[in-house]
Amino acid sequence: MTHPTHEPAVPVSGLLSVVLPCHNEQQVLPATYDRLSLMTVALAEWGLDYELLIVNDGSTDDTPEMLDRFAAADVRVRVVHLARNFGHQAAVSAGLLVARGEVVAIMDADLQDPPEVLPAFLAKWREGYQVVYAIRRNRKEGLLKRGAYWTFYRLLNAISEISIPLDSGDFCLLDRSAVNLLNSLPERQRFVRGLRTWIGLKQIGVEYDRDARQAGRPSYTASKLVRLAVDGLVSFSNVPLKLVTRLGILSLFASFCMGLWVLYAFLYDAETLRGWTSTACLILFMGSVQMISLGIIGEYLSRIFVEVKGRPTFLIARVTQHEPPRGGQIEVGARPRREATR
Ligand code: UDP
Ligand code: MG
Repeated sequence: MTHPTHEPAVPVSGLLSVVLPCHNEQQVLPATYDRLSLMTVALAEWGLDYELLIVNDGSTDDTPEMLDRFAAADVRVRVVHLARNFGHQAAVSAGLLVARGEVVAIMDADLQDPPEVLPAFLAKWREGYQVVYAIRRNRKEGLLKRGAYWTFYRLLNAISEISIPLDSGDFCLLDRSAVNLLNSLPERQRFVRGLRTWIGLKQIGVEYDRDARQAGRPSYTASKLVRLAVDGLVSFSNVPLKLVTRLGILSLFASFCMGLWVLYAFLYDAETLRGWTSTACLILFMGSVQMISLGIIGEYLSRIFVEVKGRPTFLIARVTQHEPPRGGQIEVGARPRREATR
């Protein structure tokens, strides 16, 4: 990914980067930080040091200040402040670009993804898997949300060109080779779990129980979730577009049958005026088919538009860390490097 405001990270061997996208998480962050810090011993057993790479996705509460305090006190914490709220998938992508680890974990900041599962992921990584993704055995969320997720993953799998593992979110562990491949993909609207499947390599799923959010409120509103679902469906499947043609053929056939019936009524039925009902139905039917079709085409067109504009997925305002190599706060945005390519 060519990125206007960030130099590519130089990987460090023996380092695990834990990428945490964050949007207004002031209530849960202290607990998250404590739980992850407890992992130090377990990770040392794997011969790994770790960095917490927290991406502040344009938070408007105390999250930015809190994160800077963490970074000032702990050498293991690095904070990437995005210029505004770019969305969860963009925040994850920013984390992947900046992460220096030989191996990189992605998890939610609200402790729904328990850090204690990481050793099981690392075991698979050591076995030679380059992508270890988490599969949710169960969810501690409302019935409606669980049902929506269940339907979405099955629909996505049914119509997408690749086989995206069912019930796997962004929680995963990636080898440096997988991170580099993901970073090299130029697409702007990133559905990370789909791209992760698409790159291939050696992949395996590990089951886990998804916890409830520990504190604070979800930033994913219903409309953001629908957006994410549409992004996933549209970026990994052409089936909706093909459906438009099929709908067209179907409605042509229906109109032809109706035409025959109307002709029959005109010739043999004296009370032809009754036909206004069928005419009204036909107009409504054709109108809605056309609107749906235009809508589907519009979804693809709007994505082409975004890709053609070529704006970056995210902009990094600054990166804070305890002892940066060049001292103090790095104002990344102040030194644009267009040639920085990964
Ligand atoms: N998040 C983000 N930017 C956003 C929305 C969410 O970085 O615009 C982060 C959020 O802080 C959390 C993760 O993405 O770490 C998942 O979000 P949330 O818990 O709101 O979603 P849910 O778990 O309810 O799907
Ligand atoms: Mg959550």
